[in-house]
Amino acid sequence: MTPITVAALVVLLTWLERRRPLRVEVEPKTVRISRNLSVAALAALTVQAIEIPLVRPVAIAVEHRGWGVTGALPVPRWLAVVTALLLLDYTLYVWHVLTHRVPWLWRMHVVHHVGRDLYASTALRFHAAEIAASVPWRAAQIVAIGVSPDVLVLWQSCVLGAILFHHANLRLPPALDRALSWVVVTPRMHGIHHSAVRAHTDSNWSSGLAVWDRLHGTFRDDVPQEAITIGVPAYSRPGDVTLLTIVALPFVRQRPSWELRP
Ligand SMILES: [Zn+2]
Repeated sequence: MTPITVAALVVLLTWLERRRPLRVEVEPKTVRISRNLSVAALAALTVQAIEIPLVRPVAIAVEHRGWGVTGALPVPRWLAVVTALLLLDYTLYVWHVLTHRVPWLWRMHVVHHVGRDLYASTALRFHAAEIAASVPWRAAQIVAIGVSPDVLVLWQSCVLGAILFHHANLRLPPALDRALSWVVVTPRMHGIHHSAVRAHTDSNWSSGLAVWDRLHGTFRDDVPQEAITIGVPAYSRPGDVTLLTIVALPFVRQRPSWELRP
């Protein structure tokens, strides 16, 4: 997805968010957007400086040598591509669970979760350290699954479109949201994943297709959005989530995330 397409999608979702908000806004818009985009800029730099130079050559080698599951399958090309996309989406589900379960990964992923609002721009707000930490996982996905550079670009565009959509503060008609949640992750589903209640956050880990949560029994849609406080209890005050604080967050002593500060 080109930067212009991403910008156009963010503008469209931002317009829809204003017309049909799903949750009440907590922080001032300008503060939130400038903070999200600043973290996103550092993430984008990391993608350009580290991820692409390391991962793309792996995908090129995989294509030349026919490595990976899909390279070994005696199936037509289109079916191999579909299989690769499904396996990439599933292994992203696994990675997302790991970023919550493994303490040194959580201290990076928590930066994405401490936001006290959830909007399309939150989808771009991942700490640069988390992007860097995901590079070996991405390389392993590419080698094990057999992902060519073209399929990698296609998948990354699909994921980006999907995460911009499900982070949006967008109230879809409930029946539509419910029907869509059989196929893809919806804003209501992902709102529950960003709840400050740990039992809620430990659900809805999928990024693209919702099927992985359905299969693992981690799908939840039983929490009304009005009952959700977005964020992480230990970082629930405005001063806990300033730009400098969250950029430094992975590198400082961690508070117990799920305990509300007195
Ligand atoms: Zn998460």
